[in-house]
Amino acid sequence: MKKDDLLVLEITDLDSEGNGVGKAEGMAFFVKDAVIGDVVEAKIMKMKKSYGFARLMRLITPSPHRVEAVCPVAKQCGGCQLQAMSYEEQLRFKQEKVKNHLLRIGGFSEEELQMEPITGMEKPLHYRNKAQFPIGTGKDGEIITGFYAARSHRIIDYRSCHLGVAENEEILQQVTEWMQEAKVSAYDETTGRGLVRHVLTRYGFTTEEIMVCIIVNGDRLPKSELLVERLRKLPKMTSITMNINKERTNVILGREVRLLWGRSYIEDYIGDIRYQISPLSFFQVNPVQTEKLYGLALEYAQLTGEETVWDLYCGIGTISLFLAQKAKQVYGVEIIPQAIEDAKNNAKINNITNAEFFVGAAEDILPAYYRNYAEQHNGENAHADVIVVDPPRKGCDQKLLQTMLDMQPERIVYVSCDSATLARDLKILSQGGYKIERVRPVDQFPMTVHVETVCLLSRKHVDRYI
Ligand code: SAH
Repeated sequence: MKKDDLLVLEITDLDSEGNGVGKAEGMAFFVKDAVIGDVVEAKIMKMKKSYGFARLMRLITPSPHRVEAVCPVAKQCGGCQLQAMSYEEQLRFKQEKVKNHLLRIGGFSEEELQMEPITGMEKPLHYRNKAQFPIGTGKDGEIITGFYAARSHRIIDYRSCHLGVAENEEILQQVTEWMQEAKVSAYDETTGRGLVRHVLTRYGFTTEEIMVCIIVNGDRLPKSELLVERLRKLPKMTSITMNINKERTNVILGREVRLLWGRSYIEDYIGDIRYQISPLSFFQVNPVQTEKLYGLALEYAQLTGEETVWDLYCGIGTISLFLAQKAKQVYGVEIIPQAIEDAKNNAKINNITNAEFFVGAAEDILPAYYRNYAEQHNGENAHADVIVVDPPRKGCDQKLLQTMLDMQPERIVYVSCDSATLARDLKILSQGGYKIERVRPVDQFPMTVHVETVCLLSRKHVDRYI
């Protein structure tokens, strides 16, 4: 096999970017736009030692799971990877992906893994409460906006993204019309010139409040009163701000936010907990599924009101505040100071007094707490009934996992956005005396390859086995 050869491939899997994977002569080939179940003719573009990349030339037999993508720019856009696959098949693929990682990387057996079926969405579109649209200049000098093409910064002029809320279209219409009218330029990242870089929108699914933040390469926004005039007419417009970002960087937001009109934040709910969300705050982008995901974490934690619980990698405290309603005391740990500020504020506005938050790396804070506790209590160990972790993709630090094992909580609830690192960490915890009780994937990001998983582990009581 060599470059430019034609192959017939049966697509049996997807890679982490959503490309189809098929095997020929023992080698894996990655094929963009192919779907599980397709039989395709593909041309080899590049060969490596044990794998290669091939271009889809012809669908010989289309997969029974193929559907028409709802979005006309689904193929070019970098946002969705799975639109051409039916939602049922997307869910099946994600369930299998988690299971295979736990079997292969975690080394667990099928019997140990009685996985619960993935929690999907009833309507898997228009679920995102946040969108960031790049602004640019088109061929004829017109203002364009939409999304970046996959792996590039070329703007696809398309405003009705099917993952976002319908309100975005009108907001973009008003912003681009205002730019034309007030002769405000779009930022050009190749020269570093021009003013408006991005438009950030946020929408409260429960409160219906709308936020618009204009990200500007400068300190002033000329004729901003005309923009405010237009935007405030939209029903439920609550917050209009500008954010200053003069750096030549891919990072979208700068540090400074100025209020143009209304409040500096919008409010929304997850379950019964109210959150104040400002342009710089982190907030889960799919509130409907987040409530299910964290509801599951709470169910797995089995709280009665007497427990001491740690929530590590707590962000703005979403899980902590959920747990605090049912626990005696919750401790949250998060590395970003601003997120901890938000967590404390969110505790306050919900009258939650049994949650305490610490800024720092979980792998520093927990071991230090454990050591200090023993020193101050004649060698007695710090106690936790439940430890919850919700780490970023790279998973938990080894040092942290060791301290968790030392503390011997009755239960560990692991919320994961990367099932490969989840499997790696669960292997360590299971070797350290914990047993997998329940595992359930949750589809937080339909149409994309991402999948979240919640897992409950319980401590094996050694004496029972002797
Ligand atoms: N449950 C949180 C989101 C967790 S996302 C919420 O709902 O808000 C993972 C979080 O881990 C992020 O907020 C990230 O800033 C934080 N983080 C990353 N590395 C960390 C570390 N070493 N120690 C503590 N927190 C960390």
